[in-house]
Amino acid sequence: MDEQTARKLIVEIGKLMYDKGYVTSSDGNISYRLGENLILATPTQVSKGRMTEDMMALTDLDGNALNDNRVSSEIKMHLLIYKMRPDINAVCHAHTPHGTAFAAAGLAIDAPILSEVILTLGCVPLTAYGTPSTPELTDALKPYVEHHNALLLENHGVVAYGKDLWQAFDRLETLEHTAKIAILARTLGGANDLPPDAIKKLVNIREKAGYLPEKARCQSCGYLEDAGIACETNSVQNQNGGDTKISLTREELIELLSQAAR
Ligand SMILES: [Zn+2]
Repeated sequence: MDEQTARKLIVEIGKLMYDKGYVTSSDGNISYRLGENLILATPTQVSKGRMTEDMMALTDLDGNALNDNRVSSEIKMHLLIYKMRPDINAVCHAHTPHGTAFAAAGLAIDAPILSEVILTLGCVPLTAYGTPSTPELTDALKPYVEHHNALLLENHGVVAYGKDLWQAFDRLETLEHTAKIAILARTLGGANDLPPDAIKKLVNIREKAGYLPEKARCQSCGYLEDAGIACETNSVQNQNGGDTKISLTREELIELLSQAAR
């Protein structure tokens, strides 16, 4: 996609995010990988509902500015995703009310209650709280970026990403819709989980159809374990969980213990 089309699309998606109430004020940000070391991103402190094409910032993959428009400090989260996922070219970060309610309540969106969501998005894990725009936040995301396409940021918001801008937005929308349905179902007495057999069939379909690759079986997702189809790394870890040997230096052990005691 050429730069001009990307600028137009980011403006359009920003309006959608604002109109749908996924962001208020100057919340949220959107970015697109224009080239190997070239990122186009929304500017800092501007409402996503009132952006124009000329406002976009350009940076390299390390966040160095390549034009005069100041990029949001949350770009670090986007850059981590681009570095870890060569298949990803667009990222949308927002504070969607229902998804963020899960993140504020300390809950992942990982119950197998909707067939379409198992097919297209899979599980959305909760990543530990980190101060926005600092390495705390990116460090908390690292363990999840590879196998998930959307994440909850504890006490903050949500992020979704895809091969292009529309796929990133669609995943954000699916996440928010799922969170809303899950909350509504709870007010009706709770949603019923799909049984392991049904989950197995859905995962087979999603792999055959190319909605999600087989490595999505490594998602942090209790229902994949229950259905006996979690990826091998996970199962090995779980089987050997109690016996796995680790080694720490004296300093590392002291640091760990003092962190735990804090
Ligand atoms: Zn944010």
